Amino acid sequence: MSTLIYWFRNDLRLIDNPALLEACLRADRLLPVYIHLPQARETHTLGFPREDRRRRVFLRESLDDLKAQLRTLGSDLLEYEGEPAEVLLELAQFTHASAVYSERIEAPEEIHQSQLIQERGVLLKEFWQSSMLSLECLPFPVQDMPDMFTQFRKKVENAGLRFSAPVVAPSKIPSLPELVETPLIRAAEQANTSPHQFAGGERSALDHLKQYLARRLPDTYKETRNQLIGKDYSSKFSPWLALGCLSARTVAAELTAYEQSHGANDGTYWLWFELLWRDYFRFLHFKYGKQLYQAQGLSDAPVMRSNLQSFESWQAGATGEPLVDAGMRELLKTGYLSNRMRQVVASYWIYDLQGDWRLGAAWFESQLLDYDVYSNQGNWLYLAGRGTDPRGGRRFNIAKQTQDHDPQGEYQRLWL
Ligand code: FAD
Repeated sequence: MSTLIYWFRNDLRLIDNPALLEACLRADRLLPVYIHLPQARETHTLGFPREDRRRRVFLRESLDDLKAQLRTLGSDLLEYEGEPAEVLLELAQFTHASAVYSERIEAPEEIHQSQLIQERGVLLKEFWQSSMLSLECLPFPVQDMPDMFTQFRKKVENAGLRFSAPVVAPSKIPSLPELVETPLIRAAEQANTSPHQFAGGERSALDHLKQYLARRLPDTYKETRNQLIGKDYSSKFSPWLALGCLSARTVAAELTAYEQSHGANDGTYWLWFELLWRDYFRFLHFKYGKQLYQAQGLSDAPVMRSNLQSFESWQAGATGEPLVDAGMRELLKTGYLSNRMRQVVASYWIYDLQGDWRLGAAWFESQLLDYDVYSNQGNWLYLAGRGTDPRGGRRFNIAKQTQDHDPQGEYQRLWL
């Protein structure tokens, strides 16, 4: 009789979860677990939480949805808090599990967690499954991927690649191992209301995707994606993608089905194109690893020393630059910011306030509902000119951005 543990990380879903499907096929008994990491409760040296409460609420909703779905299939989701190596070792000993299955996360802290688990003698089988394109289908070894996004995209397109096919949800989950003690289950945190009203969980994600397509919003995506106000100017898939309630492959497959019904257009292409950026920042981690986390990044430019007063005014939306302040207040109030405004406020921090890009990235990590280690790190590094941008960094002219994107001051009035 083989017992396995399935460790959910940022893949809180049943549909298109190859690691879970494999575990279900191989195990006679399966223990699905989620481990709350102590790091999530950490506070930055400057006093702000590493993970804002809003993200914890979204996570709570996502876990509740997953748990409910697993229970419908006769299983459950057990929650623990602690270092994954310790929790998993104890669980493996207790249940006589022969291995732990999980998704692979290619970022330094998560790689370290996996190493510790293996050092404890627990067999860990990890599956890379958070990108739209699988590693195997890429037309180059991922470690040799082109540095420039345009070259990367052209190679992908020339090879005729769109996405790797999603897999179905397991139809049956093996029963739980016996003698599992009552786990530590955290009390649900009350949902916060946000103007965007994201609700965590796979089923909300699928509902959101369905209505986005049914309302034919992809058709206008290319024209609206740089707008600043409202729900529909961009897809808002990001919070669900970040926790893996939804996979990028499912989105891409649904987009392709949509194109077959309604025809392909610039909007459907641009949505795919943005998802390819998401993949690109993921794959860069295979090539450059920890280098992406150093102050200098991939460049040899001198490191900036942040002025703490400037940081506080930037954080609070009190720099005196109206567009930037409106953006920073939207982020503070809602946990979400459009891509355009993320670029504007990040550029302002790096180039106008001359701050260390890593501090800006840490603030985004704290606040963003859709915080994703690869996309956050990648975009900040790119804007700071310490990544793979052939133009060596992106400084945004705030007056021009205001003129182009908020000429009547509507966005500024909304948030100031
Ligand atoms: P849409 O415009 O509808 O795009 C569809 C999807 O494509 C998004 O959900 C996202 O998965 C992907 N995507 C779009 N733009 C990018 C991009 N530039 N890089 C990577 N993927 C992209 N995105 C995150 O998901 N998490 C982050 O932590 C994050 N940090 C960022 C930090 C900075 C400084 C910047 C400039 C961008 C960051 N982004 C991040 C990327 C982007 O801003 C968001 O993905 C996007 O605004 C989310 O809204 P949406 O789902 O409506 O996007």
